[in-house]
Amino acid sequence: MKTKNLFFLLLLLFVTLSMSKAQDYDKYFKDKTMRFDFFHLGNANEEHISFDQIVSDGIWGGSKTKLIDKLRLGKYFFEIIDPESNTIIYSRGYSAIYGEWETIPEAKEKWGVFHESVRFPWPVKKVTLVLNKRNEKNEFTPVWKYEIDPQADYVNPADLNSLFNIYNAMENGDPENKLDIVVLPEGYAKEDAEKLRKDVDHLIESLFKVEPFKSRKNDFNIRAVEVIAPNSGCNHPQQDIYKRPATSVSYGAFGSQRYALGYDNKKIRDLASAVPYEYTIILMNDSIYGGGGIYNLYSIAACDNAFTEYLFVHEFGHHFADLADEYYTSATAYEMGSTVIEPWELNVTSQTEKEKIKWKELIEEDTPVPTPWEKEKFDNHSIEVQKKRAEMRAAKSKEADMEKLFRNQQEWEEEVLNNMKYSGKIGAFEGAMYHQYGIYRSYPNCIMYTRTTYFCPACQRAINMVIDQSVE
Ligand SMILES: [Zn+2]
Repeated sequence: MKTKNLFFLLLLLFVTLSMSKAQDYDKYFKDKTMRFDFFHLGNANEEHISFDQIVSDGIWGGSKTKLIDKLRLGKYFFEIIDPESNTIIYSRGYSAIYGEWETIPEAKEKWGVFHESVRFPWPVKKVTLVLNKRNEKNEFTPVWKYEIDPQADYVNPADLNSLFNIYNAMENGDPENKLDIVVLPEGYAKEDAEKLRKDVDHLIESLFKVEPFKSRKNDFNIRAVEVIAPNSGCNHPQQDIYKRPATSVSYGAFGSQRYALGYDNKKIRDLASAVPYEYTIILMNDSIYGGGGIYNLYSIAACDNAFTEYLFVHEFGHHFADLADEYYTSATAYEMGSTVIEPWELNVTSQTEKEKIKWKELIEEDTPVPTPWEKEKFDNHSIEVQKKRAEMRAAKSKEADMEKLFRNQQEWEEEVLNNMKYSGKIGAFEGAMYHQYGIYRSYPNCIMYTRTTYFCPACQRAINMVIDQSVE
């Protein structure tokens, strides 16, 4: 065959392949979102999943051309399979509260039950849902399967009419071509309606002044559901502040004062379904430092703290791009294994050979790997501050005093991290993801590491990859 003919043949093949992708959506799906609800239960030794219900979450807000998740992030991964052709027609990675809970000491003594959902375009015909989980080598293996018949009685196609106003805070285009974020308020009573809109605007301003969100702002839509809470402020049991939440979000998850989560997934999903969405941000009308973020579930942040902007961005990093925490000296709820295997998160690595590092193309020739830095000095200071922080929390110190401690810490850290031999260089800096040794981050500083104001190059690269996977 002549080269020219081969070229046209390849071009034709390419065009056919790209067309079939767009047509796939109409072949398999309606313009509607199926929400598959289930219970996820177990303890440190066993894990079970049990069907709850299938409901409609309104129009499909996700991409209609990028149906397969090639990034494969998260602890779990679900696939929708067409049984006739045995092909995967939709897939997404995600993480779950259960996945964290099973690693904490409590799971060795008690059972835990968590409600979860996976959402995907509404199938036209029968499909199979397969849930996969990481094994000890971090590979996905199937753990559960369910045959879905969209015509069956257990499938409820009725949309849920929302009782709340919608605030269209940022609109840049049709949901299917944009990344859609739904904002849910927690602890905003009737009289806080105006404050809520201000806080949503503050969130948008904070998020989109940080790269790469700044350059990609036009790829996002943001809508808030103006949920009214029975009272102003949030539940904080460790400080003897008790409230009844609107979304179930509360401080004190897994016994950690600053960790906020909401366990009533059905309530949160029902509230979010008022608008098309792929990502969820829950704003806490509170001044106490705290938040949480789980990949493809939600991120949560307190709105009236001196570090609110940091909390917005850091927690959204977990939720949006499955970014790992780059810090490692704090007392966290997780129990990490002693053997280090390569983490799947895109901003951390166990590799010390340049060629095997995820962000290798960003490392300059003359930067050594692992990259030397003032680790000992930094770690000692960090541990000291952690101790002080724990003492102050135990003594129920004023939030203003805690903020002062954090501010002093940040000043000291910036001074050290900005004045080292390899400051400003991309490499592999030891210490990340709750490991003082054996796990590396790409840059001396990052908003996933300290309370600084920017993402490191590896985090920026990861966020861009996630955006590219959803928009054209
Ligand atoms: Zn980073």
